[in-house]
Amino acid sequence: MISSVTPQASKTYDRSYFHNKILDQYPSLHIKGSSENFNYYGITDEISCRGSQRDYICPLCKLGYDDEEIEGRYKTRSYFIKCEQREIEITA
Ligand SMILES: [Zn+2]
Repeated sequence: MISSVTPQASKTYDRSYFHNKILDQYPSLHIKGSSENFNYYGITDEISCRGSQRDYICPLCKLGYDDEEIEGRYKTRSYFIKCEQREIEITA
């Protein structure tokens, strides 16, 4: 019996790889939309310890915002997410 050897698939660091990595790294982000090379994220976490205030903590700059949009930009084998204050490179 010939057992076929499946070659170890080399990981592709494409856009969906980084997208999943970001959702893993920043569980408070959720995808809002996307275009050709961009993904747009919203922040879901609410600050509950401050009573009635309905701010969101931005996971990138750790500041509170009413409604901040995070933008993800894919470049070959790397990915950048940025908010109004900070830009972070996500490395594979
Ligand atoms: Zn921010």
